[in-house]
Amino acid sequence: MLGQMMQQPLLISSLLVHAERHHGEREIVSRRVEGDLHRYTYRELGARARRLANALDGLGLAMSDRVGTLAWNGYRHMELYYAVSGSGLVLHTLNPRLHPDQIVYIVDHAEDQVLFFDLSFLPLMAAVAGRTSTVRHWVAMCDRAHLPADAAKIPGLLCYEELIDAQHDRYDWPIFDENGASSLCYTSGTTGNPKGVLYSHRSTLLHSYAAALPDSLNCSANDTILPVVPMFHVNAWGLPYVACMTGAKIVFSGPALDGKSLYELLEGEQVTVSAGVPTVWQGLLAHVQGNGLKFSSMKRTVIGGSACPPAMLRTFGEEFGVHVLHAWGMTEMSPLGTVCSLKPRHQQMDKDGRCAVMAKQGRVVYGVDMKIVDDDGNNLPFGSEKSGELLVRGPWIVDEYFKGEGGNPLRADAAGRGWFPTGDVATIDADGYMYITDRSKDVIKSGGEWIGSIELENIAMAHPAVAMAACIAAHHPKWDERPLLVVTKKPNAEVTKEELLAFFEGKVAKWWIPDDVAFVEVIPLGATGKMQKNKLREQFKDYRLPSA
Ligand code: AMP
Repeated sequence: MLGQMMQQPLLISSLLVHAERHHGEREIVSRRVEGDLHRYTYRELGARARRLANALDGLGLAMSDRVGTLAWNGYRHMELYYAVSGSGLVLHTLNPRLHPDQIVYIVDHAEDQVLFFDLSFLPLMAAVAGRTSTVRHWVAMCDRAHLPADAAKIPGLLCYEELIDAQHDRYDWPIFDENGASSLCYTSGTTGNPKGVLYSHRSTLLHSYAAALPDSLNCSANDTILPVVPMFHVNAWGLPYVACMTGAKIVFSGPALDGKSLYELLEGEQVTVSAGVPTVWQGLLAHVQGNGLKFSSMKRTVIGGSACPPAMLRTFGEEFGVHVLHAWGMTEMSPLGTVCSLKPRHQQMDKDGRCAVMAKQGRVVYGVDMKIVDDDGNNLPFGSEKSGELLVRGPWIVDEYFKGEGGNPLRADAAGRGWFPTGDVATIDADGYMYITDRSKDVIKSGGEWIGSIELENIAMAHPAVAMAACIAAHHPKWDERPLLVVTKKPNAEVTKEELLAFFEGKVAKWWIPDDVAFVEVIPLGATGKMQKNKLREQFKDYRLPSA
Protein backbone atom coordinates (compact mmCIF):
# COMPACT_ATOMS: atom_id res chain seq x y z
CA MET A 1 0.00 0.00 0.00
CA LEU A 2 1.35 3.44 -0.88
CA GLY A 3 1.24 6.34 1.52
CA GLN A 4 -1.24 9.04 0.64
CA MET A 5 0.82 12.17 0.92
CA MET A 6 1.44 14.87 -1.66
CA GLN A 7 4.11 14.34 -4.25
CA GLN A 8 6.23 17.44 -4.36
CA PRO A 9 9.61 17.17 -6.06
CA LEU A 10 12.54 18.50 -4.03
CA LEU A 11 13.79 21.21 -6.39
CA ILE A 12 16.48 23.85 -5.80
CA SER A 13 14.16 26.59 -7.06
CA SER A 14 11.86 25.92 -4.09
CA LEU A 15 14.64 27.09 -1.72
CA LEU A 16 14.77 30.45 -3.46
CA VAL A 17 10.99 30.83 -3.55
CA HIS A 18 10.93 30.08 0.20
CA ALA A 19 13.70 32.56 1.03
CA GLU A 20 12.08 35.29 -1.02
CA ARG A 21 8.65 34.79 0.52
CA HIS A 22 9.63 34.26 4.14
CA HIS A 23 12.98 36.02 4.52
CA GLY A 24 12.70 38.59 1.73
CA GLU A 25 14.28 41.38 3.80
CA ARG A 26 17.34 39.32 4.89
CA GLU A 27 20.63 40.56 3.48
CA ILE A 28 23.25 39.11 1.15
CA VAL A 29 26.51 41.03 1.42
CA SER A 30 29.39 40.59 -1.03
CA ARG A 31 32.89 41.97 -1.32
CA ARG A 32 33.14 42.37 -5.08
CA VAL A 33 35.95 41.93 -7.56
CA GLU A 34 35.21 45.58 -8.42
CA GLY A 35 36.58 46.44 -4.95
CA ASP A 36 33.46 47.62 -3.10
CA LEU A 37 30.97 46.03 -0.70
CA HIS A 38 27.62 45.18 -2.32
CA ARG A 39 24.47 44.47 -0.34
CA TYR A 40 20.95 43.50 -1.28
CA THR A 41 18.17 41.20 -0.05
CA TYR A 42 16.78 37.74 -0.80
CA ARG A 43 13.91 39.54 -2.52
CA GLU A 44 16.34 41.13 -4.95
CA LEU A 45 18.22 37.84 -5.36
CA GLY A 46 14.96 36.21 -6.41
CA ALA A 47 14.11 38.93 -8.94
CA ARG A 48 17.58 38.94 -10.49
CA ALA A 49 17.73 35.11 -10.61
CA ARG A 50 14.44 35.13 -12.57
CA ARG A 51 15.83 37.71 -15.01
CA LEU A 52 18.93 35.55 -15.40
CA ALA A 53 16.80 32.46 -16.02
CA ASN A 54 15.03 34.37 -18.82
CA ALA A 55 18.43 35.39 -20.21
CA LEU A 56 19.60 31.75 -20.14
CA ASP A 57 16.46 30.76 -22.06
CA GLY A 58 17.41 33.39 -24.62
CA LEU A 59 20.82 31.80 -25.15
CA GLY A 60 19.14 28.77 -26.69
CA LEU A 61 20.10 26.13 -24.13
CA ALA A 62 18.38 22.75 -23.77
CA MET A 63 17.38 20.99 -20.52
CA SER A 64 20.46 19.63 -18.64
CA ASP A 65 22.97 21.63 -20.72
CA ARG A 66 25.99 22.53 -18.62
CA VAL A 67 26.67 26.15 -17.71
CA GLY A 68 30.18 26.74 -16.36
CA THR A 69 31.29 29.32 -13.79
CA LEU A 70 34.77 30.54 -12.84
CA ALA A 71 33.97 32.84 -9.99
CA TRP A 72 34.68 33.80 -6.41
CA ASN A 73 32.02 33.77 -3.72
CA GLY A 74 29.57 36.57 -4.46
CA TYR A 75 25.96 37.48 -5.16
CA ARG A 76 26.21 37.03 -8.93
CA HIS A 77 27.54 33.52 -8.37
CA MET A 78 24.59 32.91 -6.02
CA GLU A 79 22.20 34.13 -8.75
CA LEU A 80 23.77 31.59 -11.11
CA TYR A 81 23.39 28.83 -8.49
CA TYR A 82 19.64 29.35 -8.50
CA ALA A 83 18.93 30.50 -12.07
CA VAL A 84 20.93 27.72 -13.75
CA SER A 85 19.78 24.76 -11.62
CA GLY A 86 16.31 26.22 -11.12
CA SER A 87 15.66 26.40 -14.85
CA GLY A 88 16.69 22.76 -15.41
CA LEU A 89 20.25 23.44 -16.56
CA VAL A 90 23.34 22.09 -14.78
CA LEU A 91 25.63 24.46 -12.92
CA HIS A 92 29.25 23.43 -13.47
CA THR A 93 31.50 25.23 -11.00
CA LEU A 94 35.14 25.27 -12.14
CA ASN A 95 38.14 25.73 -9.89
CA PRO A 96 40.08 28.73 -11.29
CA ARG A 97 43.24 27.65 -9.48
CA LEU A 98 43.62 24.65 -11.79
CA HIS A 99 46.16 24.67 -14.61
CA PRO A 100 44.69 26.09 -17.88
CA ASP A 101 45.22 22.69 -19.59
CA GLN A 102 43.10 21.04 -16.90
CA ILE A 103 40.43 23.74 -17.27
CA VAL A 104 40.25 23.08 -21.02
CA TYR A 105 40.01 19.33 -20.35
CA ILE A 106 37.20 19.77 -17.80
CA VAL A 107 35.20 22.27 -19.89
CA ASP A 108 35.37 19.92 -22.90
CA HIS A 109 34.57 16.85 -20.84
CA ALA A 110 31.55 18.55 -19.26
CA GLU A 111 30.57 19.98 -22.67
CA ASP A 112 29.92 23.40 -21.15
CA GLN A 113 27.78 25.58 -23.44
CA VAL A 114 28.22 28.88 -21.63
CA LEU A 115 31.01 30.12 -19.34
CA PHE A 116 30.37 32.87 -16.79
CA PHE A 117 33.49 34.33 -15.19
CA ASP A 118 34.62 37.00 -12.75
CA LEU A 119 36.80 39.78 -14.16
CA SER A 120 39.83 38.43 -12.24
CA PHE A 121 39.80 35.48 -14.61
CA LEU A 122 39.67 37.43 -17.88
CA PRO A 123 43.33 36.65 -18.78
CA LEU A 124 42.77 32.96 -17.97
CA MET A 125 39.61 32.89 -20.07
CA ALA A 126 41.31 34.71 -22.96
CA ALA A 127 44.04 32.02 -22.85
CA VAL A 128 41.59 29.10 -23.00
CA ALA A 129 38.83 30.63 -25.18
CA GLY A 130 40.32 29.44 -28.47
CA ARG A 131 41.03 25.95 -27.13
CA THR A 132 37.63 24.74 -25.89
CA SER A 133 35.29 22.96 -28.26
CA THR A 134 31.74 23.34 -26.88
CA VAL A 135 31.45 26.82 -25.36
CA ARG A 136 29.07 29.01 -27.40
CA HIS A 137 28.89 32.06 -25.10
CA TRP A 138 31.36 33.73 -22.76
CA VAL A 139 29.90 36.07 -20.14
CA ALA A 140 31.91 38.50 -17.97
CA MET A 141 30.24 38.91 -14.56
CA CYS A 142 30.22 42.73 -14.40
CA ASP A 143 28.59 45.75 -15.98
CA ARG A 144 29.75 47.37 -19.23
CA ALA A 145 31.61 50.17 -17.40
CA HIS A 146 33.91 47.67 -15.68
CA LEU A 147 34.84 45.74 -18.81
CA PRO A 148 38.53 46.41 -19.55
CA ALA A 149 39.72 47.19 -23.07
CA ASP A 150 41.39 43.80 -23.51
CA ALA A 151 38.01 42.09 -23.08
CA ALA A 152 37.86 42.21 -26.87
CA LYS A 153 40.33 39.31 -26.83
CA ILE A 154 37.29 37.08 -26.37
CA PRO A 155 35.17 37.56 -29.53
CA GLY A 156 31.46 38.04 -28.84
CA LEU A 157 31.98 38.41 -25.09
CA LEU A 158 28.70 39.14 -23.29
CA CYS A 159 28.27 41.31 -20.24
CA TYR A 160 26.31 39.90 -17.27
CA GLU A 161 24.50 43.06 -16.22
CA GLU A 162 23.42 43.87 -19.79
CA LEU A 163 22.21 40.32 -20.22
CA ILE A 164 19.88 40.48 -17.23
CA ASP A 165 18.89 44.16 -17.62
CA ALA A 166 17.29 43.23 -20.92
CA GLN A 167 14.98 40.69 -19.25
CA HIS A 168 11.73 40.63 -17.34
CA ASP A 169 11.69 39.44 -13.71
CA ARG A 170 8.63 37.25 -14.32
CA TYR A 171 9.61 33.61 -14.72
CA ASP A 172 7.87 30.40 -13.61
CA TRP A 173 10.39 27.95 -12.26
CA PRO A 174 9.73 24.68 -14.12
CA ILE A 175 8.70 21.55 -12.21
CA PHE A 176 10.57 18.38 -13.16
CA ASP A 177 11.91 15.14 -11.67
CA GLU A 178 13.81 15.76 -8.43
CA ASN A 179 16.40 13.21 -9.58
CA GLY A 180 17.34 15.54 -12.45
CA ALA A 181 20.95 16.80 -12.46
CA SER A 182 21.48 20.17 -10.74
CA SER A 183 25.21 20.78 -10.54
CA LEU A 184 28.56 19.30 -11.44
CA CYS A 185 31.90 19.51 -9.66
CA TYR A 186 35.15 17.79 -10.66
CA THR A 187 37.40 16.15 -8.08
CA SER A 188 40.83 17.64 -7.60
CA GLY A 189 42.40 14.55 -9.24
CA THR A 190 45.98 14.42 -7.91
CA THR A 191 46.52 11.39 -10.15
CA GLY A 192 44.88 10.91 -13.54
CA ASN A 193 42.23 13.17 -14.99
CA PRO A 194 39.71 14.88 -12.70
CA LYS A 195 36.36 13.10 -12.53
CA GLY A 196 32.96 14.80 -12.47
CA VAL A 197 30.43 14.35 -9.64
CA LEU A 198 26.92 15.13 -10.87
CA TYR A 199 24.59 16.16 -8.02
CA SER A 200 20.80 16.01 -8.30
CA HIS A 201 18.11 18.37 -6.97
CA ARG A 202 17.02 15.65 -4.52
CA SER A 203 20.54 14.92 -3.26
CA THR A 204 21.20 18.66 -2.83
CA LEU A 205 18.00 19.29 -0.87
CA LEU A 206 18.43 16.27 1.39
CA HIS A 207 22.03 17.35 2.01
CA SER A 208 20.82 20.87 2.88
CA TYR A 209 18.33 19.56 5.46
CA ALA A 210 21.10 17.46 7.01
CA ALA A 211 23.68 20.26 6.93
CA ALA A 212 21.40 22.75 8.69
CA LEU A 213 20.63 20.46 11.67
CA PRO A 214 21.76 21.59 15.15
CA ASP A 215 24.32 18.79 15.47
CA SER A 216 25.56 19.48 11.92
CA LEU A 217 26.44 23.02 10.85
CA ASN A 218 23.69 24.36 13.11
CA CYS A 219 22.29 27.21 11.01
CA SER A 220 19.15 29.25 11.65
CA ALA A 221 17.39 32.45 10.56
CA ASN A 222 19.26 34.23 13.35
CA ASP A 223 22.67 33.40 11.93
CA THR A 224 24.97 35.33 9.65
CA ILE A 225 27.03 32.87 7.62
CA LEU A 226 30.35 33.58 5.93
CA PRO A 227 31.41 30.60 3.81
CA VAL A 228 35.12 31.08 3.20
CA VAL A 229 35.08 27.72 1.43
CA PRO A 230 34.75 28.62 -2.25
CA MET A 231 31.53 28.27 -4.21
CA PHE A 232 33.65 26.45 -6.82
CA HIS A 233 34.48 23.67 -4.35
CA VAL A 234 31.57 21.28 -3.64
CA ASN A 235 29.00 24.09 -3.67
CA ALA A 236 30.68 25.86 -0.73
CA TRP A 237 29.82 22.82 1.41
CA GLY A 238 26.13 23.43 0.60
CA LEU A 239 25.93 26.73 2.51
CA PRO A 240 24.37 28.81 -0.32
CA TYR A 241 21.43 26.34 -0.20
CA VAL A 242 21.33 26.18 3.61
CA ALA A 243 21.19 29.99 3.71
CA CYS A 244 17.99 30.08 1.63
CA MET A 245 16.49 27.14 3.50
CA THR A 246 16.99 28.81 6.90
CA GLY A 247 16.82 32.49 5.99
CA ALA A 248 20.25 33.23 7.43
CA LYS A 249 22.06 36.36 6.29
CA ILE A 250 24.96 35.36 4.04
CA VAL A 251 28.26 37.18 3.53
CA PHE A 252 30.60 36.55 0.59
CA SER A 253 34.28 37.37 0.77
CA GLY A 254 35.03 37.64 -2.98
CA PRO A 255 38.70 37.29 -3.85
CA ALA A 256 40.07 38.74 -0.57
CA LEU A 257 40.91 35.73 1.61
CA ASP A 258 43.80 37.19 3.64
CA GLY A 259 43.47 37.42 7.42
CA LYS A 260 42.94 41.19 7.54
CA SER A 261 40.19 41.28 4.89
CA LEU A 262 38.38 38.31 6.41
CA TYR A 263 38.55 39.81 9.90
CA GLU A 264 37.12 43.13 8.69
CA LEU A 265 34.21 41.32 7.04
CA LEU A 266 33.56 39.01 10.00
CA GLU A 267 33.41 41.98 12.35
CA GLY A 268 31.76 44.49 10.01
CA GLU A 269 28.87 42.14 9.22
CA GLN A 270 28.74 40.54 12.68
CA VAL A 271 29.14 37.03 11.30
CA THR A 272 28.09 34.21 13.67
CA VAL A 273 29.14 31.11 11.67
CA SER A 274 31.99 30.62 9.26
CA ALA A 275 33.43 27.66 7.35
CA GLY A 276 36.73 26.89 5.65
CA VAL A 277 39.90 24.80 5.37
CA PRO A 278 42.61 25.01 8.09
CA THR A 279 45.08 26.96 5.90
CA VAL A 280 42.63 29.88 5.63
CA TRP A 281 42.19 30.04 9.39
CA GLN A 282 45.94 30.14 9.90
CA GLY A 283 46.09 33.49 8.11
CA LEU A 284 43.12 34.82 10.07
CA LEU A 285 44.48 33.72 13.45
CA ALA A 286 47.92 35.20 12.67
CA HIS A 287 46.26 38.57 11.92
CA VAL A 288 44.03 38.51 15.00
CA GLN A 289 46.80 37.42 17.38
CA GLY A 290 49.41 39.70 15.81
CA ASN A 291 47.18 42.76 16.33
CA GLY A 292 45.70 41.90 19.74
CA LEU A 293 42.15 41.64 18.32
CA LYS A 294 39.05 39.69 19.43
CA PHE A 295 36.00 38.24 17.68
CA SER A 296 32.89 40.07 18.85
CA SER A 297 30.20 38.00 17.09
CA MET A 298 31.62 34.73 15.78
CA LYS A 299 30.26 31.80 17.77
CA ARG A 300 31.20 28.83 15.61
CA THR A 301 33.52 27.96 12.80
CA VAL A 302 33.36 24.83 10.69
CA ILE A 303 36.82 23.49 9.84
CA GLY A 304 37.25 20.71 7.32
CA GLY A 305 38.75 19.76 3.98
CA SER A 306 41.85 18.56 5.78
CA ALA A 307 42.50 17.66 9.40
CA CYS A 308 42.07 20.54 11.86
CA PRO A 309 45.22 20.62 14.04
CA PRO A 310 44.20 20.38 17.73
CA ALA A 311 46.37 23.46 18.41
CA MET A 312 44.08 25.52 16.13
CA LEU A 313 40.97 24.13 17.78
CA ARG A 314 42.30 25.15 21.21
CA THR A 315 43.33 28.63 20.07
CA PHE A 316 39.88 29.32 18.66
CA GLY A 317 38.11 27.91 21.72
CA GLU A 318 40.29 28.97 24.63
CA GLU A 319 41.67 32.29 23.39
CA PHE A 320 38.68 33.56 21.44
CA GLY A 321 35.61 31.65 22.64
CA VAL A 322 34.86 30.42 19.11
CA HIS A 323 33.58 26.85 19.04
CA VAL A 324 35.22 24.73 16.33
CA LEU A 325 33.10 22.19 14.48
CA HIS A 326 35.48 19.76 12.87
CA ALA A 327 33.82 18.29 9.76
CA TRP A 328 34.78 15.73 7.16
CA GLY A 329 33.52 15.10 3.67
CA MET A 330 34.39 14.77 0.02
CA THR A 331 33.36 16.14 -3.37
CA GLU A 332 31.81 12.71 -3.92
CA MET A 333 29.67 13.23 -0.78
CA SER A 334 28.15 16.68 -1.54
CA PRO A 335 30.35 16.99 0.75
CA LEU A 336 29.08 16.37 4.28
CA GLY A 337 29.81 13.02 5.97
CA THR A 338 30.64 13.64 9.63
CA VAL A 339 30.60 16.59 12.02
CA CYS A 340 32.19 16.58 15.46
CA SER A 341 29.33 17.65 17.70
CA LEU A 342 29.62 16.48 21.27
CA LYS A 343 27.19 14.16 23.06
CA PRO A 344 25.99 14.77 26.65
CA ARG A 345 28.65 12.34 27.92
CA HIS A 346 31.41 14.51 26.44
CA GLN A 347 30.01 17.72 27.91
CA GLN A 348 30.85 16.32 31.37
CA MET A 349 34.53 15.89 30.45
CA ASP A 350 37.30 18.28 31.39
CA LYS A 351 38.80 20.62 28.77
CA ASP A 352 41.48 18.17 27.62
CA GLY A 353 38.99 15.32 27.29
CA ARG A 354 36.63 17.47 25.23
CA CYS A 355 39.46 18.69 23.00
CA ALA A 356 40.57 15.10 22.33
CA VAL A 357 37.06 14.29 21.08
CA MET A 358 36.72 17.52 19.10
CA ALA A 359 39.93 16.78 17.21
CA LYS A 360 38.23 13.74 15.68
CA GLN A 361 36.35 14.14 12.40
CA GLY A 362 33.12 13.35 14.24
CA ARG A 363 30.00 11.24 13.92
CA VAL A 364 27.85 10.73 10.85
CA VAL A 365 25.12 13.09 9.92
CA TYR A 366 21.82 11.16 9.63
CA GLY A 367 21.55 9.87 6.06
CA VAL A 368 25.17 8.80 5.79
CA ASP A 369 26.18 5.28 6.74
CA MET A 370 29.87 4.53 7.29
CA LYS A 371 32.05 1.57 8.18
CA ILE A 372 35.70 0.62 8.21
CA VAL A 373 37.11 -2.59 6.77
CA ASP A 374 40.45 -4.37 7.14
CA ASP A 375 42.78 -5.32 4.26
CA ASP A 376 40.64 -8.39 3.52
CA GLY A 377 37.41 -6.37 3.37
CA ASN A 378 36.08 -7.60 6.75
CA ASN A 379 34.05 -5.10 8.80
CA LEU A 380 35.87 -3.77 11.86
CA PRO A 381 33.55 -3.14 14.82
CA PHE A 382 33.08 0.38 16.25
CA GLY A 383 35.46 0.72 19.17
CA SER A 384 38.17 -1.47 17.68
CA GLU A 385 41.67 -0.06 18.09
CA LYS A 386 42.56 -0.96 14.52
CA SER A 387 42.26 1.50 11.68
CA GLY A 388 40.88 0.46 8.32
CA GLU A 389 39.62 1.80 5.01
CA LEU A 390 36.56 4.01 5.37
CA LEU A 391 33.50 3.21 3.20
CA VAL A 392 30.28 5.24 2.97
CA ARG A 393 26.81 5.11 1.44
CA GLY A 394 23.82 7.45 1.40
CA PRO A 395 21.45 9.51 -0.77
CA TRP A 396 23.95 12.35 -1.36
CA ILE A 397 26.92 10.11 -2.13
CA VAL A 398 28.12 9.47 -5.69
CA ASP A 399 26.89 6.34 -7.46
CA GLU A 400 29.09 6.73 -10.52
CA TYR A 401 31.24 9.48 -11.98
CA PHE A 402 30.01 11.71 -14.82
CA LYS A 403 29.98 9.80 -18.13
CA GLY A 404 30.94 6.62 -16.27
CA GLU A 405 34.55 7.81 -16.01
CA GLY A 406 36.80 5.25 -14.29
CA GLY A 407 34.12 2.51 -14.26
CA ASN A 408 32.01 1.52 -11.26
CA PRO A 409 33.59 3.14 -8.18
CA LEU A 410 31.46 1.19 -5.66
CA ARG A 411 32.33 -1.93 -3.69
CA ALA A 412 29.51 -4.41 -3.01
CA ASP A 413 28.86 -5.88 0.46
CA ALA A 414 27.47 -9.36 1.17
CA ALA A 415 23.92 -8.07 0.61
CA GLY A 416 24.97 -6.64 -2.76
CA ARG A 417 24.68 -3.00 -1.64
CA GLY A 418 27.30 -0.65 -3.03
CA TRP A 419 29.67 1.30 -0.75
CA PHE A 420 31.87 4.16 -1.86
CA PRO A 421 35.52 3.65 -0.85
CA THR A 422 36.70 7.04 0.39
CA GLY A 423 40.43 6.40 0.18
CA ASP A 424 40.71 7.55 3.80
CA VAL A 425 42.08 5.37 6.57
CA ALA A 426 40.29 5.80 9.89
CA THR A 427 39.23 4.42 13.24
CA ILE A 428 35.69 4.64 14.64
CA ASP A 429 35.32 4.68 18.43
CA ALA A 430 32.58 3.08 20.53
CA ASP A 431 30.55 6.35 20.42
CA GLY A 432 30.70 6.33 16.60
CA TYR A 433 33.28 9.14 16.30
CA MET A 434 35.48 8.71 13.25
CA TYR A 435 39.13 9.73 13.28
CA ILE A 436 41.16 9.90 10.07
CA THR A 437 44.71 8.66 10.44
CA ASP A 438 45.64 9.11 6.79
CA ARG A 439 44.76 9.18 3.12
CA SER A 440 45.48 5.63 1.96
CA LYS A 441 48.04 6.94 -0.53
CA ASP A 442 49.80 9.01 2.16
CA VAL A 443 50.18 6.15 4.64
CA ILE A 444 53.69 5.51 5.96
CA LYS A 445 54.44 1.82 6.38
CA SER A 446 57.44 1.17 8.60
CA GLY A 447 58.46 -2.48 9.06
CA GLY A 448 54.94 -3.49 7.95
CA GLU A 449 53.19 -1.25 10.54
CA TRP A 450 51.26 1.95 9.76
CA ILE A 451 52.36 5.30 11.12
CA GLY A 452 49.68 8.01 11.12
CA SER A 453 51.11 11.02 9.33
CA ILE A 454 48.25 13.33 10.39
CA GLU A 455 48.94 12.72 14.07
CA LEU A 456 52.62 13.57 13.58
CA GLU A 457 51.70 16.74 11.70
CA ASN A 458 49.27 17.76 14.45
CA ILE A 459 52.02 17.44 17.06
CA ALA A 460 54.47 19.46 14.98
CA MET A 461 51.84 22.17 14.40
CA ALA A 462 51.50 22.61 18.16
CA HIS A 463 55.14 23.79 18.33
CA PRO A 464 55.17 27.60 18.54
CA ALA A 465 57.77 27.98 15.77
CA VAL A 466 56.00 25.80 13.20
CA ALA A 467 53.74 27.35 10.57
CA MET A 468 52.95 24.21 8.58
CA ALA A 469 54.06 20.58 8.73
CA ALA A 470 53.70 17.64 6.35
CA CYS A 471 54.86 14.14 7.15
CA ILE A 472 55.81 11.89 4.24
CA ALA A 473 57.37 8.48 3.79
CA ALA A 474 61.08 8.42 2.97
CA HIS A 475 62.75 5.24 1.74
CA HIS A 476 64.63 3.23 4.34
CA PRO A 477 66.71 0.12 3.52
CA LYS A 478 65.71 -1.74 6.68
CA TRP A 479 62.21 -0.48 7.52
CA ASP A 480 61.09 0.14 3.94
CA GLU A 481 59.65 3.55 4.90
CA ARG A 482 60.29 5.97 7.74
CA PRO A 483 58.59 9.32 8.45
CA LEU A 484 60.26 12.50 7.23
CA LEU A 485 58.82 15.72 8.65
CA VAL A 486 58.78 18.66 6.21
CA VAL A 487 58.29 22.00 7.97
CA THR A 488 57.85 25.69 7.26
CA LYS A 489 58.69 28.02 10.15
CA LYS A 490 56.65 31.02 11.30
CA PRO A 491 58.21 34.39 10.34
CA ASN A 492 61.07 35.31 12.72
CA ALA A 493 60.73 32.02 14.63
CA GLU A 494 63.62 29.66 15.20
CA VAL A 495 63.74 25.97 16.00
CA THR A 496 66.37 23.33 15.31
CA LYS A 497 65.84 19.84 13.97
CA GLU A 498 66.88 18.35 17.34
CA GLU A 499 64.46 20.59 19.30
CA LEU A 500 61.60 19.64 17.03
CA LEU A 501 62.28 15.91 17.27
CA ALA A 502 62.57 16.19 21.07
CA PHE A 503 59.10 17.83 21.03
CA PHE A 504 57.62 14.47 19.94
CA GLU A 505 58.97 12.56 22.93
CA GLY A 506 56.26 11.23 25.21
CA LYS A 507 53.55 12.28 22.75
CA VAL A 508 53.72 9.20 20.46
CA ALA A 509 55.32 5.75 20.53
CA LYS A 510 59.08 6.08 20.09
CA TRP A 511 59.10 4.28 16.74
CA TRP A 512 56.59 6.82 15.36
CA ILE A 513 58.95 9.78 15.91
CA PRO A 514 60.16 11.04 12.50
CA ASP A 515 63.67 10.10 11.50
CA ASP A 516 64.48 13.56 10.20
CA VAL A 517 63.20 17.10 9.66
CA ALA A 518 63.55 19.08 6.42
CA PHE A 519 62.95 22.84 6.66
CA VAL A 520 61.50 24.35 3.47
CA GLU A 521 60.31 27.81 2.39
CA VAL A 522 56.91 26.58 1.17
CA ILE A 523 54.81 23.46 1.33
CA PRO A 524 52.88 23.25 -1.96
CA LEU A 525 49.11 23.71 -1.59
CA GLY A 526 46.58 22.37 -4.09
CA ALA A 527 43.69 24.19 -5.70
CA THR A 528 41.49 23.75 -2.63
CA GLY A 529 44.13 24.70 -0.04
CA LYS A 530 45.26 21.17 0.89
CA MET A 531 48.91 20.19 1.24
CA GLN A 532 50.10 18.40 -1.88
CA LYS A 533 52.05 15.53 -0.38
CA ASN A 534 52.48 13.89 -3.79
CA LYS A 535 54.54 16.94 -4.86
CA LEU A 536 56.60 16.74 -1.65
CA ARG A 537 57.22 13.02 -2.19
CA GLU A 538 58.45 13.86 -5.70
CA GLN A 539 60.67 16.65 -4.31
CA PHE A 540 62.19 14.32 -1.69
CA LYS A 541 62.29 11.12 -3.74
CA ASP A 542 66.11 10.93 -3.68
CA TYR A 543 66.38 12.10 -0.06
CA ARG A 544 68.61 9.91 2.10
CA LEU A 545 67.62 9.69 5.74
CA PRO A 546 70.57 10.01 8.17
CA SER A 547 69.50 6.63 9.63
CA ALA A 548 69.51 4.92 6.22
P1 AMP B 1 37.81 16.87 -1.67
O1 AMP B 1 36.93 15.96 -2.41
O2 AMP B 1 38.79 17.60 -2.54
O3 AMP B 1 37.03 17.78 -0.81
O4 AMP B 1 38.72 15.99 -0.71
C1 AMP B 1 38.17 15.04 0.17
C2 AMP B 1 39.25 14.51 1.05
O5 AMP B 1 39.76 15.55 1.91
C3 AMP B 1 38.79 13.44 2.02
O6 AMP B 1 38.70 12.17 1.43
C4 AMP B 1 39.87 13.52 3.10
O7 AMP B 1 41.03 12.83 2.73
C5 AMP B 1 40.18 15.00 3.14
N1 AMP B 1 39.45 15.63 4.26
C6 AMP B 1 38.30 16.33 4.22
N2 AMP B 1 37.96 16.76 5.45
C7 AMP B 1 38.91 16.31 6.30
C8 AMP B 1 39.12 16.39 7.72
N3 AMP B 1 38.31 17.07 8.52
N4 AMP B 1 40.20 15.76 8.22
C9 AMP B 1 41.06 15.07 7.44
N5 AMP B 1 40.92 14.98 6.11
C10 AMP B 1 39.85 15.58 5.53
